[in-house]
Parts: sequence; structure tokens; C-alpha cells
Amino acid sequence: TAFSSLPLSPTTLANLQQLGYESMTPIQAASLPVALAGQDLIAQAKTGSGKTAAFALALLAKLNPRWFAVQAMVLCPTRELADQVTVEIRRLARAEENIKVVTLCGGVATRGQRASLENGAHIVVGTPGRIMDLLEREYLSLENLNTLVLDEADRMLDMGFFEDIATVVKQTPKERQTLLFSATYPEGIAKLAQQFMRDPQQITV
Ligand code: AMP
Repeated sequence: TAFSSLPLSPTTLANLQQLGYESMTPIQAASLPVALAGQDLIAQAKTGSGKTAAFALALLAKLNPRWFAVQAMVLCPTRELADQVTVEIRRLARAEENIKVVTLCGGVATRGQRASLENGAHIVVGTPGRIMDLLEREYLSLENLNTLVLDEADRMLDMGFFEDIATVVKQTPKERQTLLFSATYPEGIAKLAQQFMRDPQQITV
């Protein structure tokens, strides 16, 4: 299916073409119409399926570049994944106005992350522990968040992040859209969905 069947801006469609994204992958074709309509979703997707673009295009479509507030957050299990997600979001956003994406993971000093946040971030991508830490120190505010993504949610649960995720999500507005991506469905996923999602559509491809 062509990306042009979706309600995306002409700039975004032109950028996708330049990136060589000719047609949607199955996970994109199944999830983008739902995500762009503003609905919550649980999608079964592995690395390599094109899942990053599936949620990135949805969150970018809602983003207001002229508003310097954190409007979207992607929670990831590892720094490696967070770095990959940041790169992909920047590629997909490069044709738009200056959209700032900041990666927030442990293992580095918080100082630089604090400075990036003070300069105005639109999107944050990171691991639950560091994001919780930055929230506690009030370097980060999620009060204007409108899209929350839980990427590789099963791996986050395997790593024992349930409580950290819960703590972070409680600091976001209730009216947000929540998109959850997971390769498998352990019991914890249903618990996450029940506590933090609103009538999610389930997508398996
Ligand atoms: P992901 O599963 O999100 O890690 O994506 C795997 C790779 O596929 C990334 O390098 C993307 O840039 C690329 N990709 C994602 N969507 C498409 C598409 N529709 N057409 C071609 N390449 C894509």
C-alpha cells in the first residue's frame, strides 16, 4: 500500500519518497490508519518490520514544531534501541521545521541532557530509569505530552521496568494517545494495557 493513502502532509510524503520508502510494510499498513486516527494500539512487531516509522509518523503528524514542549515520548528497553529510534525519527522529521529529538538514557551524566531539555525538546526517547530520574529532579516535564510510545514493551518488562514505566506514565496527561509495540505478549503486556491504555486496537501481522 502506498503512503499516499494516509492523511500525511505533502512534505512528509515527499520525504518518504526521498528516503526510498516506496510502500508501507505490513505493520505500517495495519497500524498507521489506526494511529493517525488518534486511537490507542497494541501492535505485534519485531525489529526490522518498520515499526519505528509506524509510530514515528503518527507522533510527528500531531506535533506542533512551534510549541516548545515535550509532546511525545518513546520508552525503550536499551540505549542502543533508543539511539536507533532517535535516528529514524530525525530522518522522518528532517523535511519539517526544526523538530528537536533528545535521547535520555543512563550511563552518561545528566548535565548534557538537562541542557538539551532546557533548550526545548519536542520529542524525548529513552529508557525508563533515566527518564524517571530526570522527572524526579524536575529537569523534565511531561504535562504537555500527547503521544506515549512503549517500544519493545516485552523486553522492558523482562528487564524489570514495570514499576518505572508505571511511575513515568502517571506523570503524563490522561488524554494522551498510547501506542505499544511488542514482539510477544507475556502477561505483563495485558496488565500495562489495562492500566495505561484506552480501548486499544490489537494489531497482528
Ligand atoms: P525498524 O523495524 O523500525 O527497525 O525498521 C527497519 C528498517 O526498515 C529501517 O532501516 C527503516 O529505515 C526501514 N524502513 C522502514 N519502513 C520502510 C518502508 N516503508 N520502506 C522501506 N524501508 C523502510
